[in-house]
Amino acid sequence: MPSQPDTCLFCRLVAEGDHVHAADGFVAIRDINPIADTHLLVLPQRHVDTFRDVDAFPDDEAARMLRFVADTAAAAGLDDYKVLVNVGAGGGQTVFHLHWHVLGGAFDRGKLSRALELETA
Ligand code: AMP
Ligand code: ZN
Repeated sequence: MPSQPDTCLFCRLVAEGDHVHAADGFVAIRDINPIADTHLLVLPQRHVDTFRDVDAFPDDEAARMLRFVADTAAAAGLDDYKVLVNVGAGGGQTVFHLHWHVLGGAFDRGKLSRALELETA
């Protein structure tokens, strides 16, 4: 699906956000409400609502997206970290433009445990 900067917050941030890392078709930004010392969001330029629809990415782009997630963590100086994707409202997704959380350092345990809860669980 093409970029939707008028209606999608993350399409807008891909176009004009403060990018900590960028490569062809992908950017990383700082999460506005971090739950860990380092909390980055990897956003593909392509608007796809949710990870459930990952098939919308051509295979080579899906592979590059994974590498970009790893490169983002490395560029942030992280060796050990977590990668998290919330899928659907019940899975905690609040912004419906696929994104990957990259989390490192010390966690806010209260926020982390809330982030890991499934509403449907
Ligand atoms: P999720 O709950 O997985 O959909 O994650 C959405 C994330 O986007 C949350 O961690 C929010 O803190 C973050 N977020 C919301 N608005 C902004 C913004 N303007 N800039 C950066 N991060 C944001
Ligand atoms: Zn979007």
